[in-house]
Amino acid sequence: MIVIIDHAALTRGRVEGDERCEIAGVGPVSLATARSLLADCFGAAIVTNGVDVFTVAHLGRSVTEHQRSALEARGYRCEVPGCGATRGLEIDHIDDWHDSFKTALEFLCWLCKRHHLDKTHRGWRLEGPAGDRRWVGPRSRAGPHPPRDASVA
Ligand SMILES: [Zn+2]
Repeated sequence: MIVIIDHAALTRGRVEGDERCEIAGVGPVSLATARSLLADCFGAAIVTNGVDVFTVAHLGRSVTEHQRSALEARGYRCEVPGCGATRGLEIDHIDDWHDSFKTALEFLCWLCKRHHLDKTHRGWRLEGPAGDRRWVGPRSRAGPHPPRDASVA
């Protein structure tokens, strides 16, 4: 299945003007339908930006085998500065998937279980590109790299 939808409409939450939101070969669908399809299994999605193809991206929540391989090649260790754990790692969406609808390599990272829990439930977040990550606490908008046990306090 190929979902054709303008990325602006997808992130905005409504279709405006000439924006498209349709299933190729089927026709227009509601944004809610398109979003539910993107969240579930589907073959491919093409997101347009006006008339041009903006990206041909895997927009589902799950990570493809190619993306997983690329992540492993980038380095199999927790990406929180100062952690470096190499066991029991989990792949995380750096931004909330429900905001971006993108599962692109640049938005994925490895986190150990403890840092994944800190990010998911305690307001910590990982910022910056791979190789230059910053671990930002819930009460700061930006800051220095905290020591490994800073999130426990
Ligand atoms: Zn970690």
